[in-house]
Amino acid sequence: MNEEIVQLTLLQSIDHVIDSIDSEIQEEQDALDAKNGELADRESTISELTGRIESLEKERRTLEVEIADEMVHVKDRQSKMMQVQTGREQTALLKEIEDGKKGVKEKEEKVVAIMEEVEQLTAEIEENRNLFKGETELLQEETEKVKKAIAAINKKKKTQEKKRATQAKKLKVQLLKKYDNLRKHRNGLGVVNVLAGVCQGCFMAIPPQQYNLLLRGEDHFDCPTCQRIMYHEPVEVAEEPKKAKKKAVKKKK
Ligand SMILES: [Zn+2]
Repeated sequence: MNEEIVQLTLLQSIDHVIDSIDSEIQEEQDALDAKNGELADRESTISELTGRIESLEKERRTLEVEIADEMVHVKDRQSKMMQVQTGREQTALLKEIEDGKKGVKEKEEKVVAIMEEVEQLTAEIEENRNLFKGETELLQEETEKVKKAIAAINKKKKTQEKKRATQAKKLKVQLLKKYDNLRKHRNGLGVVNVLAGVCQGCFMAIPPQQYNLLLRGEDHFDCPTCQRIMYHEPVEVAEEPKKAKKKAVKKKK
């Protein structure tokens, strides 16, 4: 295999280690973010319940004002009863008084129902507040743990980054640039093997003439479909292409 390609594949295997370290960090962070999200949900549940209580209280105050007005009206009608002369007027007043009393009773029942609901909601808020407190404490501990875990993973990353810098120096600037660019735009894979005439990056067949040249082992080309840098190296164990590749690289050295 072309020496440049050998060095490039070595660089890529370091890059893959760094990628997996990055996803380890991401996983830690994602788990923490999810827990933060749960806590935020709990907080919005509390404020939603508080809002409901506020509007119920407002409704209750309106009802209480209406009840007071209605009672004044009933009392007024009752005192009017003394002054009326005819039975017809009396009947009309009695009806007004009855209607007024009925209205007051209905509103008082509503007030009781509201108070019961407020009591229930208050208990719900209390429960959520207690849970929130516990969860906040747990999250603080968890955040500390994740911080430490990420710091440890970052140490591993630094070691790999040093290794990468050393390896990158073995490559021509132009090729390195091209490879870095490919990795950025081609899902972290810049240099790929071609097996049985098929690019192992995009799994499209390459022209037979190019494949024949690759089989000689000296040249490398860009894949006509995905533009990745292609080389050829036989893989013995299909299930473990990485290990097989490393072994083969060592043999050739
Ligand atoms: Zn391809």
